[in-house]
Order: sequence, then C-alpha cells, then structure tokens
Amino acid sequence: MGEKTKAIAIDGPSGAGKSTLARALAKELGFRYVDTGAIYRTVGCYARRKGVDPGNAEAVTALLPEIRVEVLYDSEGLQHMVLNGEDVTAEIRLPEISMYASRVSAIPAVRDFLMEMQRDLARRHNVIMDGRDIGTVVLPQADIKLFLSASPEDRAMRRFLELEQRGTPQDYGPLLSEIKERDYNDSHRAAAPLRPAEDAILLDTTGNTFDQSFQLLLKTIKENL
Ligand code: C5P
Repeated sequence: MGEKTKAIAIDGPSGAGKSTLARALAKELGFRYVDTGAIYRTVGCYARRKGVDPGNAEAVTALLPEIRVEVLYDSEGLQHMVLNGEDVTAEIRLPEISMYASRVSAIPAVRDFLMEMQRDLARRHNVIMDGRDIGTVVLPQADIKLFLSASPEDRAMRRFLELEQRGTPQDYGPLLSEIKERDYNDSHRAAAPLRPAEDAILLDTTGNTFDQSFQLLLKTIKENL
C-alpha cells in the first residue's frame, strides 16, 4: 500500500464478524489490525460526553477542533483509542455509543477529519483494516478488498450471544432493530455509504461458525495476496 507495505481492506455491515475475523487474521499473517469503527466511536463518545446531538452536523463539526484522537497499540498488539490523552477503549463499547458513532460518521467533516490518520497507519504498517469505506474511499489501492456480509438475523444473534457471554445480556428484538437501523444509516448516507468496491471479493458468512469463516477468509487472502 505504501511502497513496501501491504493492505487488506475488510468492509461490511455491523455484526458481520469483521473485527473478530480481522483480528485473528492479522495475528496469523503478522499484520496490524486497524479497527476504524473504534475511531468513529471515539468521536461519538466525545459528542455524547458534551451532550451534543450526533445528528446535528454543525454542532458536531464545531467540536472537531477540540478533539485529539490517537490510535495506540499495546504490547499484545491490541488497539487502544485515546481521546484527548484519555484511554477510552472500554467506554466506546457502551451500547449507546454505537448509535452515536453511526450518526456522527455520516457527517462529511468527521470523515475528512479522520481520513489522514487511517491512511497514515496503512503507509507505515502492513494492515488489515476494517470499516465501511476502506476499499472504496480510504484505501482504494488496497492489495485485497473483502466485503463481508451475513443476514441481519444472523448478525443480531451473534451480537446477542456475545453480549450474553460478556454478562451484559440484551433482548434479541431490539438488537435486530438496531442492526437494521444502522444498516440503513450506513448504506443510505451521502458521504462514503456502505457498499462493496467494484473489485471487492464478496463473502457471505451466514450460518458459518467462526472457524469456517476464518478458513474461508484466510484461503481467499492467500490466493490473492
Ligand atoms: O464497526 P463499528 O460498529 O464499531 O462502527 C461504528 C459505526 O462507525 C458504524 O455504525 C458506522 O456508521 C461507522 N463507521 C463508518 N466508517 C468506518 C467504520 C465505521 O462510518 N470505516
């Protein structure tokens, strides 16, 4: 991607398993995993703390000069998000931050604000970067572009099981509605909507176990890299 670095872009709707798979693939291949959703979540987190309506583009844009976002990696290779010097890695996973992130990410000024940071990471490291517009906008020259999808019901069920395992269970019905609402927001916004790049490889993981999806992606990457 850079002159000597390689980049694998993984895009797709929320809950398709992108982050779990990308993290495991990065470990297997010795690449750095970049979770770009976490970067948008960090901006959403700031808007929430400030009591700003995430749908108010003007108000959110006015916050940007106050925000310093850093992506750091610990000795285990885990990504940490730092907001104005404070580690917010745990806070950005609060369920209410998902909707904040989805809303602020539709604002073009927010996307521009975060673009260079994402490109810079890909210039400096071999990366597997996941998000919504990595293959189409952020890294259109990526060596491999994957577009991962699964049915909304399957994705909601995965989230349901994940939250249950974490000890923070939520009802399935609202999780399914939220997934559908975020799909709609992400794919209907004017700025960098969710869609596969023309040269993306489309992979559907509906009904797969984690291991089946992992093997499918690894094989696809090895055949194409
Ligand atoms: O992937 P995750 O669910 O953590 O992302 C949170 C939100 O950030 C998504 O709903 C999406 O709206 C937004 N996002 C984006 N572009 C990216 C990554 C995430 O718009 N590259």
